[in-house]
Amino acid sequence: MAEQRAAPSIEEFRAEAIDVLSAFARRRTGEGARWEVGEDRVSVVAERSEGEAEELAALRRYRAHLVEHGLGWVDGPTEFGGRGLPPEYAAALRELESQFELPDDAYVRFSVSTLTPTLLVHGTPEHQRAWLARLRSAEMIACQLYSEPGAGSDLAGLSTRAVRDGGGWRLTGQKVWSSGAHYSDVGLCIARTSPDKPKHAGLTTFLVDLDSPGIEIRPIRQLTGGASFDEVFLTDVFVPDERRIGGVDEGWPVVVTSLLNERSAIGTEVGVDEALVQRLIDLARHAGDPADERTRDAVAQVVVRAWAARLTTARFLEGGGPPGPELALSKLLATDLLRTMSDVAADLLGAAHVADTGEWGTYAWSELTLGLPGLRVGGGTDEILKNAIGERVLHLPKDAR
Ligand SMILES: Cc1cc2nc3c(=O)[nH]c(=O)nc-3n(C[C@H](O)[C@H](O)[C@H](O)COP(=O)(O)OP(=O)(O)OC[C@H]3O[C@@H](n4cnc5c(N)ncnc54)[C@H](O)[C@@H]3O)c2cc1C
Repeated sequence: MAEQRAAPSIEEFRAEAIDVLSAFARRRTGEGARWEVGEDRVSVVAERSEGEAEELAALRRYRAHLVEHGLGWVDGPTEFGGRGLPPEYAAALRELESQFELPDDAYVRFSVSTLTPTLLVHGTPEHQRAWLARLRSAEMIACQLYSEPGAGSDLAGLSTRAVRDGGGWRLTGQKVWSSGAHYSDVGLCIARTSPDKPKHAGLTTFLVDLDSPGIEIRPIRQLTGGASFDEVFLTDVFVPDERRIGGVDEGWPVVVTSLLNERSAIGTEVGVDEALVQRLIDLARHAGDPADERTRDAVAQVVVRAWAARLTTARFLEGGGPPGPELALSKLLATDLLRTMSDVAADLLGAAHVADTGEWGTYAWSELTLGLPGLRVGGGTDEILKNAIGERVLHLPKDAR
């Protein structure tokens, strides 16, 4: 639990955070950043399986280090181990983190950025006391068990069933595209509890232990060669009623809260950070002709758009509170910019983008390129997000369904 202390100014906080980060990792941007030094991975989603256990262990060490130094949950409530500072302090830490060689945080993105805020809204005080600090420290890792073979964009059409059984529920069904289920301890699962009600009204959410009898997890091989997703089969899995998040048949608002937070996280945390933009600048310096006007123009566009995307999202999140439907735009901006970056890298690299010559920092861009289609689907497809912006932000007439 972080000790109570007076709120620092944002400058004091930044200095404190730099000390804490420097004690854990090397700074990688600005002075000291060098071509051919360190890890050359260019990735925005956890896409590879090789080295996963080591990466996860390193991430746990990092999260524990943050918690130990009072930075485990900068804008979280103090009663759950948070520091209780305004959201701009959390944004300042994120920005600073992008300047250091830190373990990939994709493994805890759902736990930290999606489930934690969802439990703050929909969890009971017991849930919050039991799980929030453990999720933030990565002692407990969670995944999302929503999509099914027959339910993705139209999630409320799902068919996994939950039936009352004594003091709990029996869940049976199949989930798919469950990122990180194989290394997660728990999964936030939505299931149909009242098949006779309208589809959004008969759903309930549960936090399911993934080592429960009746759960089988099978990896799905991806374009990148990794297997970061799984299929999760549930056969008569017993889930105690205390694991229900939200009311019976009131699971849909829980899902909506989590999806808004997920989109906000993709917009703020995935990809378009300073470090990735710096990698493109470095690539242009080393692989292209830095004097070439086309290259300079393309890289400048990326730098400007990355700033615009970050500031737009920061404006949406100003003042705290739950993220609104406008955060769909943040995710679209992020994925669109990543596509442009991938195109610029492909132009600069030519054949080295698709064939591994062994040269540092070149073929590594293929992981970003191959991971992008998935990023444009996960957390809501481009089309679904555009519909959300049209209907819920611009209040245009509803799309024909
Ligand atoms: C990287 C990644 C991570 C993921 N992680 C998870 C996870 O951890 N847990 C989980 O539960 N799921 C996860 N998913 C699944 C993801 O949520 C679904 O793939 C997504 O919701 C789309 O559903 P679908 O694949 O069934 O496609 P569909 O819904 O069948 O869509 C197919 C196509 O039709 C379009 N379409 C559908 N409806 C409309 C409409 N009304 N208007 C216009 N166009 C429409 C879509 O845009 C898409 O192009 C992940 C997916 C990816 C790629």
